[in-house]
Amino acid sequence: MQQITNFIAGRFVEAASTAWLDVFEPATGQVYARLADSDERDINVAVAAAESASPVWGRTPAAERSKILVRLAGLIERDLEALARAESIDTGKPIRLARTMDIPRVAENFRFFAGAILQASTEMHRTDLPAGAAALNYTLRQPIGVVGLISPWNLPLYLLSWKIAPAIAAGNTCVCKPSEVTPMTAHLLGSLLNEAGVPPGVVNIVQGLGSKAGSALVAHPSVKAISFTGGTATGTALARTAAPMLKKLSLELGGKNPNLIFDDVDLDEVVPQAVRAGFTNQGQVCLCGSRIFVARRIHDEFLKRFTAAVQALNIGDPLDESTEFGSLVSAAHLAKVQSYIELAKQEGGKVFVAGGDRALALPARCARGYFQPPVIVTGLPPTCRTQQEEIFGPVVTVTPFDSEDEAVAMANGTAYGLSASLWTRDISRAHRVAERLHAGTVWVNCWLVRDLRVPFGGVKQSGIGREGGEEAMRFFTEAKNVCIRYPN
Ligand code: NAD
Repeated sequence: MQQITNFIAGRFVEAASTAWLDVFEPATGQVYARLADSDERDINVAVAAAESASPVWGRTPAAERSKILVRLAGLIERDLEALARAESIDTGKPIRLARTMDIPRVAENFRFFAGAILQASTEMHRTDLPAGAAALNYTLRQPIGVVGLISPWNLPLYLLSWKIAPAIAAGNTCVCKPSEVTPMTAHLLGSLLNEAGVPPGVVNIVQGLGSKAGSALVAHPSVKAISFTGGTATGTALARTAAPMLKKLSLELGGKNPNLIFDDVDLDEVVPQAVRAGFTNQGQVCLCGSRIFVARRIHDEFLKRFTAAVQALNIGDPLDESTEFGSLVSAAHLAKVQSYIELAKQEGGKVFVAGGDRALALPARCARGYFQPPVIVTGLPPTCRTQQEEIFGPVVTVTPFDSEDEAVAMANGTAYGLSASLWTRDISRAHRVAERLHAGTVWVNCWLVRDLRVPFGGVKQSGIGREGGEEAMRFFTEAKNVCIRYPN
């Protein structure tokens, strides 16, 4: 059985406890690897390694750091197939998605920040002083030192690399805690870090549970900043530890994203995109459009076509090339999603399950996998729990609206504010509604279009801080003002 160990100071090492956790392949429900069950002792060793690598890495010329990141991006591309397969086995997502989205984006993250660090600029202000003197104020942005990076299971290596790349490009060293549910791709990254020439101790990976390894990382006094992506409840819990220690915090949390469809759209274009937004990665993308609001005039026609398109999704073994919809990530998550399907029924919703009562046509190896076909729920008010709470699975609600005001009110009527999509051909309406939607990202006539230069993040219960582009680099630096007075 494959062993997933920690990666500390450039070496693969067992956890101090010598204990292991089971790692399941979600498509089969079978244990396929075992994972180091790390705790505070492993975090202490990893932080010490990061601290000792920090002064040299922080002074390494940006051009040199950049070259190493470019090399790493190339190695990820070289190993694309192996990484995509590992990601698919680890998560249950279709291998085609891992190959075309997750892993290429990991390489892009490293390449993007390799370039960004060479372009980074800073501000300078000239200040007039009495008696003709003047001062120049300039902002020096310096690495923080050791930072803690904690990531979830849905896009495991992509989201982790989006933290590692800006952190180390900016001259920090880091300790990463990947999700214990999907630890494999972070493990594979270890050897690539060595091969790319990332010096030992610059990136350390401690595997294991959030309640042990994760919380010890957040509480470690030498870790000056925490970048976390995960659930809102976890994010607020770890903020209770980090905030009194005055750590810098970036929290990328949950979402319940609206998808607004106005009555002037071409349904041939919109329906496939609404299916994509609702069900990519089995609905386990924080940005999924899980609440569809559609203009009443086209509601019935939309629902008919949407249901037919969802029904046609090819549900199957994630490792099969033709699969469009794989398994959920874990037995616990499947149970959570199914409890929400029951809730939707109790709340009076009409529940459509793709495939109906027919047994899924899965290969024998998937007989005990965590499969849940896509679900569409109609007939529920926007205030009910099904429409308010993050399910993070293949459950999409469809609700009609009668006016733009009503659509905006329903879209904004949750505690979350991660992203929103709107579909219209009316350019004035597009700008007007985009301005009124309370979300960190608003997509108009598209979904999941990403440009790494733009800030990314949520508002309300979806998080604080911004990742991506300049904002990400700045999060991982301390700004110092240098003020030089001189007589004029
Ligand atoms: P989670 O909050 O359960 O876990 C995330 C990470 O935190 C894991 O590595 C876990 O081990 C660790 N963790 C758990 N308890 C901890 C603690 N007390 N201290 C420190 N670390 C701890 O989330 P998940 O179930 O892995 O991921 C799903 C959630 O992530 C969803 O809510 C989803 O919306 C969110 N998400 C958000 C974004 C975004 O960009 N906003 C992106 C992807 C996923």
